[in-house]
Amino acid sequence: MSAPQQGLHNSSSFFRNVSCAYFPCHEGVDESEFNCLFCYCPLYALGPECGGDFSYTAGGIKDCSGCTRLHRADQGVAIVREKFPLLAKLASLPDGADDTRQGGEQAQ
Ligand code: SF4
Repeated sequence: MSAPQQGLHNSSSFFRNVSCAYFPCHEGVDESEFNCLFCYCPLYALGPECGGDFSYTAGGIKDCSGCTRLHRADQGVAIVREKFPLLAKLASLPDGADDTRQGGEQAQ
């Protein structure tokens, strides 16, 4: 196991957990710059719009095992920021729908 690349310290944009039983969970990234911050990719729900190196299984399940985009050094945060408008759209109300929660409380 190699030492972290100079300049890469655990922070809000980089986190390396060599104690994880699965580390490194993807092949193709130098262990010294392997970023565990996005262990569960926040872009998964974007389907084919995520921009990553995915495939689909015969059963139609999105398979990200070959994707290293968010695990390379500290580039993952910039990628997620770039895609955030798509995530926000996914989380927004459908056109014409009312938010009955009224700021988090049930409408009476
Ligand atoms: S292919 Fe890569 S970027 Fe896309 S959802 Fe999977 S892990 Fe995330």
